[in-house]
Amino acid sequence: MSPLEAKLRRRIAEHGPISVADYMAEANAHYYATRDPFGTEGDFTTAPEISQMFGELVGIWLADLWMRAGRPEGARYIELGPGRGTLAEDALRAMGGTGFAPPVELVETSPVLRRGQAERVSACWHDGPSTLPTEGPLFIVANEFFDALPVHQFDSRGEELMIRLDGDKFVRDGEVMTETSPASLAIAGDLARRIARQSGAALIVDYGPVGQGAGDTLQSLSNHQYADPFAAPGERDLTAHVDFEALGEAARAEGVRVFGPVEQGAWLKAMGIDLRAVSLAKAAPERAAEIMADRDRLAAADQMGRLFKVMALVAPDWPEPAGF
Ligand code: SAH
Repeated sequence: MSPLEAKLRRRIAEHGPISVADYMAEANAHYYATRDPFGTEGDFTTAPEISQMFGELVGIWLADLWMRAGRPEGARYIELGPGRGTLAEDALRAMGGTGFAPPVELVETSPVLRRGQAERVSACWHDGPSTLPTEGPLFIVANEFFDALPVHQFDSRGEELMIRLDGDKFVRDGEVMTETSPASLAIAGDLARRIARQSGAALIVDYGPVGQGAGDTLQSLSNHQYADPFAAPGERDLTAHVDFEALGEAARAEGVRVFGPVEQGAWLKAMGIDLRAVSLAKAAPERAAEIMADRDRLAAADQMGRLFKVMALVAPDWPEPAGF
């Protein structure tokens, strides 16, 4: 039994059942703090790890907005949950081509992942958004960050579902009707408030429905297979669908304009993924089939193209962002 599992068992035995949100927060903090989970050897793969095209198009989106906003001084590149730093590296390279080379600030709690990020970008790190710079335009990116934040689950009477011990198993009592992520709303609100005050924009990419979601979306991946979210806490990835409608409302309340969510496939096509794939394939003909397969994996409706959504928060007096 892992030390985290032992700790959670002791906590429940001594103080009673814990919320799904507490369980998820503890499990994910341990999970990310102790490993690099990405890629075929790991538990799951993310868009920037599939192809450089993803990060490059994100970088072009940021640079395009920066140019049309009049190339404001003092801008920062900010990323939340940057994983291996691959997205940042690809985005910054694409941005560099336009003369946009802002300093980089990364929000990352995992010491293991921070080390990997430092190999790819020079940056300074934050434990949370609260210490981000309070002046200058912010260009914020978050890919598969919000889905890792804790959710609370409630039954049809509005009672919060709790996790107790049944013998040696963690068991969730009751049936899930609704799910909320106050942690996500707080961060979206915080980012929006900064953007409204300092100017800038945020690009949020994650998986979830366009409208209101339904019930229980907590899921766990281990070795690329769905697994029981209530077994082996801290040893497998826990995520929940992102409620874009709620994030958008929280952001709008702070005075930013909200664009989307649109499907990732549509956004990538609008940003020129087909052209980018063709030009990469021309430069490396021996990899052409692989590049086209990667393009499909990111953009095709039956792969990541429809389930994943893209939403932008933009300062009130700024131009409209591309791709929406
Ligand atoms: N954006 C990356 C990684 C996604 S995985 C990619 O697309 O490949 C989730 C990331 O969020 C990891 O870097 C993880 O360590 C980080 N993370 C999870 N919970 C966090 C929290 N509460 N605060 C800061 N970072 C967190």
